[in-house]
Amino acid sequence: MLPSGGVLPAPRPPRRRWGSVHPAVYPWFAERNDRMRNLRIGIVGAGTGGLAAAAFLARDGHHVQLLERFDEARPVGAGLLLQPTGLACLAQLGLDGRARTLGATIHDLEGRTVGGRRVLAMDYRRLRPHLFGLGIHRASLFTLLHDEVVRLGIPIATGVEAVRVEHHANRRSVIVDKQGRHHGPYDLVVDASGMRSPLRRLLGGRIRDRQFTYGAIWAALPITDRWQRRTTLMQCYDGAPVMIGVLPIGRLPDDPTERCAFFWSVRVDQREAWMAAGLDAWKARVAALWPDVAPILDGVRAPGDLSFVSYADVVIERPYCPDLGLAVIGDGAHGTSPQLGQGANLALTDALTLAAALRRDETIEDALGNFHAARRRHVAFYQLASRWLTPFFQSDSRVLGFVRDATFGLASRVPFAEGQMLRTLAGIKTGPFSELDPGDWSERYATRSRRFTTLPASSSS
Ligand SMILES: Cc1cc2nc3c(=O)[nH]c(=O)nc-3n(C[C@H](O)[C@H](O)[C@H](O)COP(=O)(O)OP(=O)(O)OC[C@H]3O[C@@H](n4cnc5c(N)ncnc54)[C@H](O)[C@@H]3O)c2cc1C
Repeated sequence: MLPSGGVLPAPRPPRRRWGSVHPAVYPWFAERNDRMRNLRIGIVGAGTGGLAAAAFLARDGHHVQLLERFDEARPVGAGLLLQPTGLACLAQLGLDGRARTLGATIHDLEGRTVGGRRVLAMDYRRLRPHLFGLGIHRASLFTLLHDEVVRLGIPIATGVEAVRVEHHANRRSVIVDKQGRHHGPYDLVVDASGMRSPLRRLLGGRIRDRQFTYGAIWAALPITDRWQRRTTLMQCYDGAPVMIGVLPIGRLPDDPTERCAFFWSVRVDQREAWMAAGLDAWKARVAALWPDVAPILDGVRAPGDLSFVSYADVVIERPYCPDLGLAVIGDGAHGTSPQLGQGANLALTDALTLAAALRRDETIEDALGNFHAARRRHVAFYQLASRWLTPFFQSDSRVLGFVRDATFGLASRVPFAEGQMLRTLAGIKTGPFSELDPGDWSERYATRSRRFTTLPASSSS
């Protein structure tokens, strides 16, 4: 746990274990390397990954500048689920306590068919009694990270839409924006511009960028008194084409209203048809499928209360280009569907790992290589899981919906399978038989056996 404004923890002796990930993941392995202090770093994108990276890197003494395309840095989207991995990263920044006061503790995930049959039941506490997820409004997560960036005095240049990175003298690079303005020069450019990154094409190598067939309609709605499941991510399915989700996400920093993120699957090519059908017809359909959710839906008054998002399966061969001094983090490097609730957690872990690699290595090139080595297996596991599992929850296939309903519930009753499903949910898998331990970043989110304590619902860091 970091004291506010403090430095990262003093180095601890390495503890490598079978199945553990590369040591660059663990910041305290990083003997501080003076030659790599005071780097000039430009970060493109003030989203989850960019803000976190800025905070980690500025705390290490680098000169960081954030560039954001919007005229004002702001959150996009409704709510998300932070896993123990993401929470442990926030803890390294001293921000998890405030996140927990704003967000909603999530103990379990439950999926039912429209007929009421339970087909998915996963409880974090069955992995470790103290573990939980945190449903949080995007604006709350954004505010936490943004406040920290402001507190650290990191400048944010807004209205800057980066389009490319170019060489400059002395192995430095500049960022060129849409108006042709040059920003920098920088020793390192971090691309955190999200799913539709315009910069990742500069990396060379193979890039896969495939849009998922289904997207989602999202809204952050007041949670009603009648809604009992305040600590559960609830999902309701009708085959694979229909999925409805309700995730408690706590409150906004300036508004005490308790909210939930409401989710409805829509085929990307049927978005217009969905809008044309009208709000009332849609609300009636949702209420017929899942009557309990009808009072929450009353919070939707106009189409503008809902937003549509689509997502892509993004895989890049190598998330850095040593020649340009460019690293890509977050969705730009590994976009996934939100089904597994991992994207923001992966972005936060990227940010932590990149800072750790820069702290440890002798050159930027070595640091980028070690950053990639440290992240590769974790990222690859979730990319694969997202690609394979999403069609079971969002696709046109009746067969996959049937298979899910017939097998997932059974599997979660087999201890080994349940353990694997919980580890996947908690964001810790780095391969079929390996995992990382967020306890290496913050003891309170440890997933390996240590002396566990049950934490109160919210405590400050
Ligand atoms: C519906 C939905 C639900 C989700 N639920 C979850 C969940 O439960 N748990 C979870 O962990 N993740 C979830 N995610 C994924 C998560 O939101 C993303 O993985 C995460 O926000 C990625 O962070 P990022 O920093 O890579 O990108 P973003 O947060 O998207 O930030 C990118 C930033 O870059 C800026 N930008 C873009 N292009 C440029 C440019 N050219 N120049 C300058 N600035 C630019 C953007 O304006 C933005 O501010 C969900 C996503 C969606 C769509």
